Amino acid sequence: MIKVEHLTKCYGDFTAVDDLSFEIEEGHVYGFLGPNGAGKSTTMNIMTGCLSATKGHVQIDGYDIFEDAGEAKKRIGYLPEQPPLYMNETPEEYLRFVGEAKGLRGAELEQQIQEVIEQTKIDNVKKRCISALSKGYKQRVGIAQALLGNPKVIILDEPTVGLDPLQIIEIRDLIKQLGQTHTVILSSHILSEVQTICEKILIISKGKLIAFDRPENLEKKLLTPNEITVVAQATDKQAKEILSSVNHISECEVRSQENGRVAMLLKTDQEDIYSVSRDIFFAFAKKEVALLEMALKKGSLEDVFIELTDKNETENLPVESEGSDT
Ligand code: ADP
Ligand code: MG
Repeated sequence: MIKVEHLTKCYGDFTAVDDLSFEIEEGHVYGFLGPNGAGKSTTMNIMTGCLSATKGHVQIDGYDIFEDAGEAKKRIGYLPEQPPLYMNETPEEYLRFVGEAKGLRGAELEQQIQEVIEQTKIDNVKKRCISALSKGYKQRVGIAQALLGNPKVIILDEPTVGLDPLQIIEIRDLIKQLGQTHTVILSSHILSEVQTICEKILIISKGKLIAFDRPENLEKKLLTPNEITVVAQATDKQAKEILSSVNHISECEVRSQENGRVAMLLKTDQEDIYSVSRDIFFAFAKKEVALLEMALKKGSLEDVFIELTDKNETENLPVESEGSDT
């Protein structure tokens, strides 16, 4: 459905999008996940033909977004990060304006306006001034305009930013619904959001694609190792010797030692952390060495994402004022 090849965008000598390549298949909900400044909006702006690329190609349903812009754009509905809503119009007037700009006329235009109003549940506010609507309703109007023209692909840039928790739930439900009839791509810097809505996640960091998979596979692939902390009535040498008989321990580090007790941090890549903790328990029991404490910490996708985010903050980001990305 969408093919992105070697997409690169430079601002001066800063590379905001760095050789991105991926393919989007029809009929799924995809999530662009990455910290602020990762290059999500830049990528979406290029994919929707709103911004030129420095290098690379984007094809929408076989049409090149730069060479066949007309055909390609017909197939995409886009809700940018800052949707250009006309504040002194009503949703109905605004949708008519956007529909006409998309080439719809007459009965078809009116029918589509009615359809998208129903789909996004804005019927009760369609005659109010947009400036008077809550952020949640404004966002619905933004999604409604993206749906006009019945595009196959809907691209939403951070659709839940700035919404309150209830509005977030409503917009997420709406996106899930759209996913049943459209290919949807949304961006977010919130891991849990893409984890709950999306069937496939693209993690973008510093303009590069660093992962592209289903959430459950990402968890398996990227998971930080599970950690087990043990405290035993033993010397470090004794404890290490006992632990050397346990399989699947990848790292073993002495944390502290006092009063004949040793605390150690162990790492294991074994998914079933309890099988490892059981083996540890029996290994100590067999040598009649008292195991005083054992604490398990499962790795999570959140840890991986935070690690990526942290790295990103300390590496080559251009100077950017805090919170400018709203
Ligand atoms: P995201 O949407 O993931 O937060 P963006 O695509 O908005 O990231 O931005 C990616 C990087 O490109 C950021 O570091 C941003 O400061 C930079 N950038 C975006 N637009 C411009 C621009 N017009 N001129 C210079 N730098 C820009
Ligand atoms: Mg953005």
